[in-house]
Amino acid sequence: MGEHDGRYAPSPSGPLHLGNLRTALIAWLFARSHGGRFLLRIEDLDPQRSRPEHERAQLRELRAIGLDWDGQIVRQSARRERHREASEELRRAGRAYPCWCTRTEVRLAASAPHVGNRSGAYRGTCRALSQSERAARRRASAPRAWRLDARATTVSFTDRLHGAQARAVDDFVLWRGDDVPAYNLAVVVDDADRRIGEVVRGDDLLESTPRQVLLAQLLGLPVPRYVHVPLILGPDGRRLAKRHGAVTLEERLAAGESPAQVVGFLAASAGLASPGARLGARDLIAAFDPERLGRTPTTLAGPVP
Ligand code: GLU
Repeated sequence: MGEHDGRYAPSPSGPLHLGNLRTALIAWLFARSHGGRFLLRIEDLDPQRSRPEHERAQLRELRAIGLDWDGQIVRQSARRERHREASEELRRAGRAYPCWCTRTEVRLAASAPHVGNRSGAYRGTCRALSQSERAARRRASAPRAWRLDARATTVSFTDRLHGAQARAVDDFVLWRGDDVPAYNLAVVVDDADRRIGEVVRGDDLLESTPRQVLLAQLLGLPVPRYVHVPLILGPDGRRLAKRHGAVTLEERLAAGESPAQVVGFLAASAGLASPGARLGARDLIAAFDPERLGRTPTTLAGPVP
């Protein structure tokens, strides 16, 4: 495994839309244009939302746009013990504490006007509990989550498209109250164990990255390089969704487009091909130049021309 090894890590909660497919294509191009390996990880930690039929459809969609991957597909649900080990390591190091706050309490506290806090950041209510208060709470109910004691550490990293970033990390959830490892913990451990050198993903996750960098540092794991690519938005400027019309591959094909047209559209909208191009993913490898990637979201206007 090496510095150009990459991955795509979809959550099997529905079909991939054009934005997901474009992110997957760009991640694949980063790896393949440098001779790196490309791995697929199914992020199926959430038992409520993950469905095997969505996973099967997503694999079909990725293959249909010409992407391939190396080795076994990893399912996050199979890595629970490894996630638990990492979470316990943090507990033993005194960097995790149980939290009884409800979602509503966390939201209200974070948005209180006097806080002067980044919105959504946890204020540390349960970090401040004494031993006896904790014992009393435990007697009343099981914790709702385990949180990292982040100590408001400021984390810096450089994103290939967004440049230098520095952010104070709040006390985020490591292990959920429904006994599921939290996304940030699982991603860090899984990327490190597969020696992923470069994480390419949607820039809606840029906010999560400081948390992940801190976790990797605390667990003594390597920190990958990051590339957060812009999203594709609906005509109303919101995240792509069903109401925006033909936003999945299946819907585009049903509307009469070919896979080559869809790949051409994805590439052109990312700045990697001319508008109207008809291409296979492989045709993009030789000329792939990350400098040409756009920095701003693409707004979907209508069907692929
Ligand atoms: N599973 C996440 C998603 O589908 C991606 C996580 C990642 O790439 O780190 O949005």
